[in-house]
Amino acid sequence: MHRNPEKNKTRGQLVYIRTFGCQMNEYDSERMEGLLSRDGYDPVERPEEAAILIINTCSIREKPEEKTYSEIGRYRDLKKECPDMILIVSGCVAQQRAEEIIERFPAVDAVIGTHQVGEISNIVSKIRKGRGPIVAVDFSDDCRIDSYPRRHGSISAFVTITQGCDNFCSYCIVPYVRGRESSRTSGEIIRDIEELVAGGTAEITLLGQNVNSYRDPERGLEFPELLECVSGIPGVRRLRFTTSHPKDLSDRLVSAFERIDTLCSHIHLPLQSGSSRVLAEMNRKYTKEEYLEKIDALRSARSDLAVTTDIIVGFPGETIDDFGQTLQVMEQVRFDGAYSFKFSSRPHTKAARLTDTVDENEKSRRLTILQELQKEHTLLANRLHVDTIKEVLATGTSVRDPEVITGRSVHNKVVNFNGRYEDIGTLIPVKIIEARNNSLLGEAIHNHSIRSM
Ligand code: SAM
Ligand code: SF4
Repeated sequence: MHRNPEKNKTRGQLVYIRTFGCQMNEYDSERMEGLLSRDGYDPVERPEEAAILIINTCSIREKPEEKTYSEIGRYRDLKKECPDMILIVSGCVAQQRAEEIIERFPAVDAVIGTHQVGEISNIVSKIRKGRGPIVAVDFSDDCRIDSYPRRHGSISAFVTITQGCDNFCSYCIVPYVRGRESSRTSGEIIRDIEELVAGGTAEITLLGQNVNSYRDPERGLEFPELLECVSGIPGVRRLRFTTSHPKDLSDRLVSAFERIDTLCSHIHLPLQSGSSRVLAEMNRKYTKEEYLEKIDALRSARSDLAVTTDIIVGFPGETIDDFGQTLQVMEQVRFDGAYSFKFSSRPHTKAARLTDTVDENEKSRRLTILQELQKEHTLLANRLHVDTIKEVLATGTSVRDPEVITGRSVHNKVVNFNGRYEDIGTLIPVKIIEARNNSLLGEAIHNHSIRSM
């Protein structure tokens, strides 16, 4: 994240946000940062320089939740040195464990749930007036996400289209910490995107836990229609969406990959398991065969489509045969990438009542096997791009080497390339010369026309 605080700001006007978890949390952090910028606060890289510290938390698995508590402890110690500092805990753990956090950590000034992110300015102002600790964790019924100031000229931006989730996959805590699903109106979404484009944004990613169940509360517009509307906004040069649920991936959405040129050649389609029996236990509402049919249809619509996924190993009752079926599906699909996790029992969920039959060592063993296989597949998929010219949206310089420019191809691959600093913030043709495990290497071709690609 590019940060550029004004040099002459004092500690009293600086905010540090530590974000855990998914893109939804990143979006919420960006929103809080934007809202606080209206009140004169600038972001800083180092927590010890800030007047306001926000920990935006994730509870999807046990590990990130535990990390929250050690992080609160760390910032509490900082606050001891500077008692005026405001310490706020937001996000999914805050939603779920507000009272516990306040009791255990008296240094915390406010706990803000997933629906109160938009209230950040009010909450800070109340704390400044001495009204704390504040607990704001109620779910609201509507999906109001007002437009907020964004870092000007950000070349790529997320736009939330839905909040919450109604799917209740049996392992998942999201419906309990983010509430029931609600969609923003298409009018609000389009206004947000028009503003972003006017400020220089070229790539828009529509965001939701299950974007393809989007339904405009005013006009009844569904997700494929929303995609058409957004693709028609002048200046939107690249369009992406995440996450899709296989059960709601309609023929109309599949054919959007044929119709909409600006729709990037990438879909993130979580598989979770390759065993239809386990999928039923997970309440995913599709079978292995149906998942494979969707992949075929998508690849018929867009032959070069990159597909990434999420997979859980060691779900209660997952046998060696079930796990073998997951590996088989991976062989069939050849995913470009996969986020893989060991099952983690979460409070409130249905799976938490099942006996966790796969022990930790066995979960780790299965995860290693799966990740090794995925590594091979990712490298094979990356090699297909060598010796081709790809349009790359250059976003900055490589963390490892500031002389190297970095960006993403339409297939959502990280591309590190020899280019110029002026390329940053533009779409640039890059000749791919090498495939690595997690990235592609290339050289910018400045005289090549993107139109001819
Ligand atoms: N809404 C998206 C979906 O349906 O896939 C993403 C939900 S979640 C933020 C991201 C991933 O975390 C899920 O796809 C799943 O693989 C994983 N996950 C969720 N709950 C989990 C649990 N209890 N144990 C392990 N992994 C989990
Ligand atoms: Fe969780 Fe399932 Fe909703 Fe994704 S679709 S957020 S995995 S309940």
